[in-house]
Amino acid sequence: MKKRVPLYLKIIIGMALGLIWGLLAVKLDLGKITSDWIKPWGTVFLNLLKLIAVPLVFVSLVKGIYGLDNINRLRAMGFKTIGLYVATTVASIIIGLALVNTIKPGNTFPKGKQIEFQDQYSKNISEKQTAATEISNQSPLQFIVDMVPENIVKATTDNSKMLQIILFALLFGIAMILLPVKAIQPVKDFIDSLNEIVLKLIDIIMLAAPYGVFALLSALVVDFAGDLDVFTSLGLYFVTVLLGIFLILVVLYPIYLKIFVRKANIGKFFKGILPAQMVAFSTSSSAATLPVTMKQTTEELGVDHEVANFVLPVGVTINMNGTSCYQAIAAVFIAQVYGIDLTMGQQLIIVLTALLAAIGSPGVPGGSIVMLIIVLTSAGIPVEGLALILGVDRPLDMFRTIANITGDSATSVIVAKSEGLLDESKICRA
Ligand code: ASP
Repeated sequence: MKKRVPLYLKIIIGMALGLIWGLLAVKLDLGKITSDWIKPWGTVFLNLLKLIAVPLVFVSLVKGIYGLDNINRLRAMGFKTIGLYVATTVASIIIGLALVNTIKPGNTFPKGKQIEFQDQYSKNISEKQTAATEISNQSPLQFIVDMVPENIVKATTDNSKMLQIILFALLFGIAMILLPVKAIQPVKDFIDSLNEIVLKLIDIIMLAAPYGVFALLSALVVDFAGDLDVFTSLGLYFVTVLLGIFLILVVLYPIYLKIFVRKANIGKFFKGILPAQMVAFSTSSSAATLPVTMKQTTEELGVDHEVANFVLPVGVTINMNGTSCYQAIAAVFIAQVYGIDLTMGQQLIIVLTALLAAIGSPGVPGGSIVMLIIVLTSAGIPVEGLALILGVDRPLDMFRTIANITGDSATSVIVAKSEGLLDESKICRA
């Protein structure tokens, strides 16, 4: 009998071949062929994932909420989830600050490069700055206004408006809980079977994952080949962010899991979530990865759908540990290059604004850049400094998205355990 190759292995092979092809294409001048004939397949895969993200968030959240069958349970699970999300985000920012203040990557940055980068990225920055100014000029309560869609159809047309869909789904689910079962039965049945269909769709889309990541990665390598010199001057900054993400993954999350789920087997956790991490790496989008995160968390980590349906969609926009760590490092790095000595108070402002910025960043590629401008402005760091880091942002985005989705999954395991809804046989030692 033929043995089936597991999905995660197929995705790893797809990624490795994608990298190899990308490097070969750069060497053999096959960049155009790659962009014309391979890249589109990556875009198709990405679109398929994004296509399913909005229905998935809506259906799973509504199902997750009415599954709790009373408002008190919803409140308890909501507080627990948000509390854990905020705690891990603050821990990640502290890791970032500790690293950047110790390694001081900004002090070794070649001075001449500063002007060069600023010229190169000035247009890009002014666009982002306009967006950030629009945000800062608004009332401090604007983010609440932005969470409430005036038109649900419009909200579903933009994956970066996920918070609006979450809010609508929350209200919809709460209304269902408050009504007698008889009144909502047809909608409940409809949502239940829609949920089955969406989950099946994810299975189908995932069949394309190995080819999708191959195409995405080979095209990325080709697109980035021209920017390689940026890496040499930004090497230490790059390494600092990677180190931060690495510490979040191999120190913070294992400790976090062990505190709440003592028997958790960290190896099983990482093996279970690996396919989602690889899709996160290839797509740089937590929102696009949500279908895979959901599948892996419920099927491999033993988290009951009732918990995953609630914790994961909320985490996509709210919980970004990799992003918050990176924002802290980027802000202090820029300050170091400009020779600004940040006071304790300014570093505290970074903790607070990076927390809010990570909550407010949409789970899309580069989603946190506009929010980073707000962190810089609040801490009195020149926004032009963004030019220094934009060149290497995409690869770092790939890594921070891995940390973002892994944090969501770890929290879902912990919430499931506390609710008695974790199948411990999947991720605990016997
Ligand atoms: N790409 C990240 C995510 O989707 C957000 C960011 O850090 O820009 O989680």
